[in-house]
Amino acid sequence: MPGEFELIERYFRTGFPSREDVVVGIGDDAAVLAPPPAGRQLVVAVDTLVEGVHFPPDFDAADLGYRALAVNLSDLAAMGAEPAWMTLALTLPKADEAWLVTFARGLREAAAPWRVALVGGDTTRGPLTVTIQLLGTVPAGQAIRRSGARAGDGVHVTGTPGDAAMGLLCLQRGIEGSAAEHCRRRFARPEPRLALGHALRGLASAMIDISDGLLADLDHLLDASGVGATIQTPRVPRSDAFRDCLAALPESDRTRAAHFPLAGGDDYELCFTVPPEHEAEVCCIAERLGVPVTRIGTIEMVQGLRVMDEDGRNMVVKTLGYDHFRENG
Ligand code: ADP
Ligand code: MG
Repeated sequence: MPGEFELIERYFRTGFPSREDVVVGIGDDAAVLAPPPAGRQLVVAVDTLVEGVHFPPDFDAADLGYRALAVNLSDLAAMGAEPAWMTLALTLPKADEAWLVTFARGLREAAAPWRVALVGGDTTRGPLTVTIQLLGTVPAGQAIRRSGARAGDGVHVTGTPGDAAMGLLCLQRGIEGSAAEHCRRRFARPEPRLALGHALRGLASAMIDISDGLLADLDHLLDASGVGATIQTPRVPRSDAFRDCLAALPESDRTRAAHFPLAGGDDYELCFTVPPEHEAEVCCIAERLGVPVTRIGTIEMVQGLRVMDEDGRNMVVKTLGYDHFRENG
């Protein structure tokens, strides 16, 4: 059985994008990085995935490697930032070589398109937990914050939220078929919306990525901006695969699952607000980048989140989404 150092050497030292701004990478006591050039600022995010909390036991190792970085890439996308370097803290129940090879492959697949270098990390023994810290840069003063939304701005969302939560539920219920597989992939391999995130600098007034559920995360954005919003539920896009899975679920799951587009979580889509004068340009950009973007509501001065159903009635929303420190139900 190879030791800790050998494993790191074998699976993490090579095969990741190399960058000129990495002065010292894996192999010393700490990494040394060249600071971003004048006119750019550093952006830092970290996310932890715990087995049994963020992904089911026996989750595919390649998917886990991919997802661990993708959720961080999504945070940088939501700031309008460009990723550059990551560190990896791995806690493993045992040194399983086959698992590590597969995990490293998934991680490389997420890192390669964005030229993210792996510059260091830590390896410990314990319950399976993956923490990635991602660093990147943004033109000075241009990071897109949660706090810039103003009354009259349109509320937009990318993709079809709810697919990921549906995929996870199908996985748990053993539901198979192409629709379930589509949704499972949306959970396992979220697509960080980096190109759109960058393109929205100077256009979006506020942005957040959806990790806990559309309404829950939008609510954070509204709080930070000191505004409210009305969301038209029928406008929230649902994928065909989502509808097919919903129909395939046992009756007892259906009511809860029908709310996944609003409250499901794990989508890593972007939710952002756009002032009226930039609306047309944002539409053009989304089309050019091939990213589906839907306007689902409007920012208002009156604080709070109002959610309208098909008949224009105000829905009573019990839970906005997932909160680790609250009873969810
Ligand atoms: P130290 O004890 O000084 O913190 P370690 O023995 O933990 O050093 O790590 C040795 C080198 O291997 C360091 O460069 C560290 O960043 C890197 N490293 C350790 N674990 C990982 C990992 N899981 N992924 C990437 N690099 C790692
Ligand atoms: Mg260490």
